[in-house]
Amino acid sequence: MAIIIDGKSLAKKTRENLKKECDELKLKGIKPKLAVIMVGDNSASKVYVRNKSRACEEIGIEYEEYLLEENITEEELINLIKNLNENKNINGILLQSPIPQNLDINQAFKAITYKKDVDGFTPTSIGKLTIGEDTFVSCTPYGIMKMFEEYKIDLTGKNVVIIGRSNIVGKPLIQCCLSENATVTVCHSRTKDLSEHTKRADVVIAAIGKSKFVTEDMVKEGAIIIDVGINRGEDGKLTGDVDFENVKEKASFITPVPGGVGPMTIAMLMNNVIKAAKEQNNQDSKF
Ligand code: NAD
Repeated sequence: MAIIIDGKSLAKKTRENLKKECDELKLKGIKPKLAVIMVGDNSASKVYVRNKSRACEEIGIEYEEYLLEENITEEELINLIKNLNENKNINGILLQSPIPQNLDINQAFKAITYKKDVDGFTPTSIGKLTIGEDTFVSCTPYGIMKMFEEYKIDLTGKNVVIIGRSNIVGKPLIQCCLSENATVTVCHSRTKDLSEHTKRADVVIAAIGKSKFVTEDMVKEGAIIIDVGINRGEDGKLTGDVDFENVKEKASFITPVPGGVGPMTIAMLMNNVIKAAKEQNNQDSKF
């Protein structure tokens, strides 16, 4: 029976520490502030954005929301981002995805200055992560690395299999795990014999978006299982990409859904906003 990695508690502890840091910054006259841009009307995005605003409120981070009409042009969106780049009161800029398909999200991300890129999605942040320079690490991979740290899981020499190659989870995770000396395999929808990879893995990280996709027969005894997936069933209940009830009997560590990776993602966003505020007010910053 696996040890359950309690992302909820770790996120709470992280937010408490960030609140202290935020209070200290305010004593120095620095008021961390996040700007969130949402385009169009997406119910899932609204929930995510609400959770982020609540976390900001709890920590004392100022928060500003820009709700843009579905039919906004790319130029208008990019102009808003450029204005926020220049706005000295704003430390972090977050563009909530998805955005309408007629807008090129990569162009929009590119417009965000890397100094305010608290989601770690701009090409500069991703490049810096790849060459091992200090940068904003995208929040979900960063949260997963913090969970490994907390539970003293050393990735050195471990075979890590990531399922999913998205820009926001799978790809940055490759760099995060590599920098901790893991041997990394990335699987995706075109991978042949997926089970052959996962059965050899010391660590499986599932970021697919398919409920209970990773089953007990796909993992080896004692494997460490990280479940990124968030899938809402017809009954409204959330499930992960891992068949938690059965896989937990075989794994050594496992993250639950909800209460695992999700809360850590938001905590790491808050961490990045505080980091941004510090860097932008540090005269010696080489960031
Ligand atoms: P995505 O849709 O961009 O990518 C899904 C990936 O899964 C793709 O790379 C695809 O190749 C792979 N895939 C699809 N079918 C597969 C199959 N049959 N076999 C192997 N690989 C397959 O997804 P994403 O944005 O990375 O999100 C993945 C999941 O994680 C979603 O459920 C999402 O809601 C969740 N998510 C959670 C958090 C969090 O904070 N917990 C953050 C981001 C995403």
